Amino acid sequence: MAVKALYALQNGFMGFERAGLFYGDFSSEKTAIPVACYLIRTGDATILFDTGLSPRAVPGLLRNDPLARFTDADLLVHRLDAIGLNVGDVDMVVLSHLHYDHAGGAEFFSKSELIVQKDEFAYAHYPAAFFAGFYYRKNFDLPGYRWRLLDGDTELAPGVSVLRTDGHTPGHQSLLLELPETGPVILAGDSCYWQEHIDAERPPGVVWNPTLAMHSIKRLKTLARLTGARIFPGHDPVFWRGVKQPPEFYR
Ligand SMILES: [Zn+2]
Repeated sequence: MAVKALYALQNGFMGFERAGLFYGDFSSEKTAIPVACYLIRTGDATILFDTGLSPRAVPGLLRNDPLARFTDADLLVHRLDAIGLNVGDVDMVVLSHLHYDHAGGAEFFSKSELIVQKDEFAYAHYPAAFFAGFYYRKNFDLPGYRWRLLDGDTELAPGVSVLRTDGHTPGHQSLLLELPETGPVILAGDSCYWQEHIDAERPPGVVWNPTLAMHSIKRLKTLARLTGARIFPGHDPVFWRGVKQPPEFYR
């Protein structure tokens, strides 16, 4: 059975400087960027792509970041509740990578399969000093949880495929979805922060390896061209204003 529904779930906004957004940009000017999760329903599986910020991180974020916005409705469990789901209904949680704004809600999914690239899982436990501030061990050090560690591209369910897109981090992954009405959609995660990163092939400013990050952007563009897919960027405020949000969804 193919994909039946794709829901975009908002998990608040945070301020982010241009130097962090665009490789080679040194401006400290900040923009409010959305934190996004997605829920996918297929004929027989319920799949979450990314888990956003940990609720533990929200008070500090709101205190220290004047551009941060986070309401009660933005909590991932409330976003799921609004579309009639409990955390226990989620079969698979695909984590694009283990940075704090993507893995923060993983702890809620003790019954689900948590799916991440093996290289990402390893690196997150022993990051280089320059990248350590993005990995909070509490988010992914979850004893007894069911981790499935991937090594490259994988089909998770009919119409749902993982695409390896490293560069932003050592084991970043994106998700290709085949939707019957919308057509193919690629959830890029942080391999493409904004539409501008796709159009101008600009690596993110927060980056482990900018050359690989650029190759991943080009790879997604090639796949999109060959399959007619739309690429959904990870943190684009302009894109986010136009994305369908519950109760609307993509079919
Ligand atoms: Zn991110």
